[in-house]
Amino acid sequence: MVTSREWQLVRRPRGWPTHEDFRLVDTEVPEPGEGEVLVRNLVMSVDPYMRGRMNDAKSYAAPYQLEQPMYGGAVGRVESSAVPGVEPGTVVRHGLGWREWAIVPKRQIEVVEPAADGVPPSAYLGVLGMPGLTAWVGVYDIAEVRPGETLFVSAAAGAVGSIVGQLAKLSGLRVVGSAGTPEKVQWLLDAGFDAAFDYHDGDVTDLLGKAAPEGIDCYFDNVGADHLRAALAHLNPFGRIAARGMIAAYNESVAGPDNLFFVVGKKLTMRGFIVSDHAHREPAFRRHVAPLLASGQLQYAETHRRGIESALDALLDVLHGGKHTGKMVVDL
Ligand code: NDP
Repeated sequence: MVTSREWQLVRRPRGWPTHEDFRLVDTEVPEPGEGEVLVRNLVMSVDPYMRGRMNDAKSYAAPYQLEQPMYGGAVGRVESSAVPGVEPGTVVRHGLGWREWAIVPKRQIEVVEPAADGVPPSAYLGVLGMPGLTAWVGVYDIAEVRPGETLFVSAAAGAVGSIVGQLAKLSGLRVVGSAGTPEKVQWLLDAGFDAAFDYHDGDVTDLLGKAAPEGIDCYFDNVGADHLRAALAHLNPFGRIAARGMIAAYNESVAGPDNLFFVVGKKLTMRGFIVSDHAHREPAFRRHVAPLLASGQLQYAETHRRGIESALDALLDVLHGGKHTGKMVVDL
């Protein structure tokens, strides 16, 4: 038995989550049974999609159960193994984060090699993990970007957005990003974005018009709301929208854009996608992105919080914005 701590949801939030909706619980974790490993989590992922799991609603991701451990991406070290071929000391990625120790069944573990890849374990939750794959699939499979086009991405300094913009730039596009602080805007420019703006500086439609005077050909939507409206206004004929997330509507009711008719007049395509449907693209993604990281052509930012007790505030900060750049993770 080892002593562990885990986060549980105790009440389904209405609107913005608060501390009263969660509790941090002490637990005892047993030795692994046959086909299982005991993992000490080293780092765990903090993601916007977790907000949807707090609702008791049918969705692509199953809801969290009340008074049961929450879960999410994590990388940890195997401490004890009942799986032949997986030795103690192996570093694995799995889906049983939001706790310090986890019993993980064999089918859920994926061995990763930070030393061989030259990255920290946290990279498998960010640039080489789900957000990186989301960005890559979105750029190449969903939007099918072409050199010479202009791409706009919202929440551009976040885990997904920061990779979208850089991949598009490396593929010969002009790239515009929006973010919520002057520091994030500077980060985008330093990472090679052609233009970036702070969406607090005025009407998003006006700001995008100034940043992309010849219009945009692709929009990567992370936000919805005023950002989607701005993109619809500035998309060129036959433009594409890769609809990846609409975080502005996760905690409050937000009206849809009042200019949706542009979809018809400009003959636009809007395509939503969920990364878990594209897991088969992981090998191609890794073959493309790992060398870009090794050569320094692709930059990635991570914001690290320390200790499982910091995880809830980290999640609230991701939902509210303004506090992190790149991927938010919690070191355990
Ligand atoms: P981020 O690291 O980008 O964090 C979320 C950011 O969203 C905040 O930091 C904030 O940035 C911004 N934000 C929050 N509210 C608003 C608002 N009202 N207006 C403008 N910006 C806002 O998160 P991820 O990169 O992990 O995720 C980005 C999006 O992609 C989310 O919508 C997420 O749900 C979605 N997603 C979808 C996937 C899929 O399979 N379809 C997979 C992974 C992510 P700032 O400080 O700049 O305001």
